Amino acid sequence: MNVVEVKNLTKIYGNLIAVDNISFKVESGEIFALLGPNGAGKTTTVEMIEMIRKPTKGEIFLFGEKWGNEHVKEKIGVLPQEFLSFERLTVKETLIYFSRLFKRRADIEELIKITGLEEKKDEIYKNLSGGLKQRVGVAIALINDPELVFLDEPTTGLDPAARRNFWEVIKNLKKEGKTVFLTTHYMEEAEYLADRVAIMHKGKIVALGKPKNLIDLHGGKTKVIIRGVDKLNGYDAKKVEDGIEIFINDEHEIANIISTLKDKKYEKIEIERANLEDVFLRLTGARLK
Ligand code: ATP
Repeated sequence: MNVVEVKNLTKIYGNLIAVDNISFKVESGEIFALLGPNGAGKTTTVEMIEMIRKPTKGEIFLFGEKWGNEHVKEKIGVLPQEFLSFERLTVKETLIYFSRLFKRRADIEELIKITGLEEKKDEIYKNLSGGLKQRVGVAIALINDPELVFLDEPTTGLDPAARRNFWEVIKNLKKEGKTVFLTTHYMEEAEYLADRVAIMHKGKIVALGKPKNLIDLHGGKTKVIIRGVDKLNGYDAKKVEDGIEIFINDEHEIANIISTLKDKKYEKIEIERANLEDVFLRLTGARLK
């Protein structure tokens, strides 16, 4: 079942086409990510689907129903970008507060467990780290026991360790059977979490699919970085900091590269599988960050 279906969606602010005729579907139970740099149009897109902003053109269906049907809102949960909660309430008090705003309510102890906040439930919000505050944000997004959860840039500003911990919370949501709609500008996040990813650039979706398939299709399979040289005969190499980078489709080619390098002086060789950053770069000519 398609939980979200977007057809030819467009949003224009004055002269700016922030979202430009995009179409995609989100399937039940998947983690779907919109990946793109700041200003790509991700927040505008999710907030239209969440029925917070009105589309200029196009159609949105949620759970098969046309956009605007009020009762559909009961099935969705939202963690907005840069969300902050009440400083002086404890985690548990916060959840009790938000729970009272809804008819359909999740079990608060269960939410605390899903978001890994057991040890912090009596701590006041103000004293929590950024990562824990975001977990509270997720618990609030789940307060009405939604089937579909929107997380808008949930790990922005977190340090790498807190970000990785937070990814496990998102994986838990999937295990709980929720459909997760994530926006992010971190390619590692989309690659690690998303079943499918839509890459956005300047309001358009430039690629959509499973991260691995997008990488195989657009990224080149393997990247060989050779530090300390500025070219390699017979190879189409791109200059990077302290060396060159070569994309190869067949990993056996590495042996040929090493043999070509035999008599050359180089510092080191690094071998990296291409990633979504490379896909983005190849499709748009721009960097994600
Ligand atoms: P970010 O991560 O920075 O939020 P984003 O990919 O979510 O980026 P949007 O916030 O959707 O992008 O913004 C897309 C474009 O639309 C940007 O150029 C932004 O300045 C512009 N924009 C967003 N909201 C409005 C608004 N309410 N009025 C006018 N322009 C807007």
